[in-house]
Amino acid sequence: MPMYDYECGQGHTVSHIRDMDARDTPAVCAQCGEPLVRLMSRVNLNLTTYLDGRRGAVDQSFDRMRRAAKLEVSRQNIPPAQRGEINKEIKALKGEVGK
Ligand SMILES: [Zn+2]
Repeated sequence: MPMYDYECGQGHTVSHIRDMDARDTPAVCAQCGEPLVRLMSRVNLNLTTYLDGRRGAVDQSFDRMRRAAKLEVSRQNIPPAQRGEINKEIKALKGEVGK
C-alpha cells in the first residue's frame, strides 16, 4: 500500500500507509487534534517533474522500467541456468550496469 503524508494546522506532520481509496479519509492529528490535510504525494511530485519540461527523461525511464518488469515476468519461465542473457538485459534497462 502507498504511503501518504499529512499535516495539521499546527504544522505537525505524519505519514500513514493507507489503501489508495482511503487516502482522503478524514483523520485528526494525534498531537493536537486538528484535522490532517494530505500533502502532495510522490505520484504528484513525479507529475510535477513531468510538467516541468523533463517529460522526455521521465517517459524514457518509465518505459525502461516497464520493459524490465515485463522481462522479469517472462524470466520466470526460463530455467535458472539459462537466465544469463535476460538478467543482463534487465540490469541494463534498470541502469545497474557495472554495479
Ligand atoms: Zn497537530
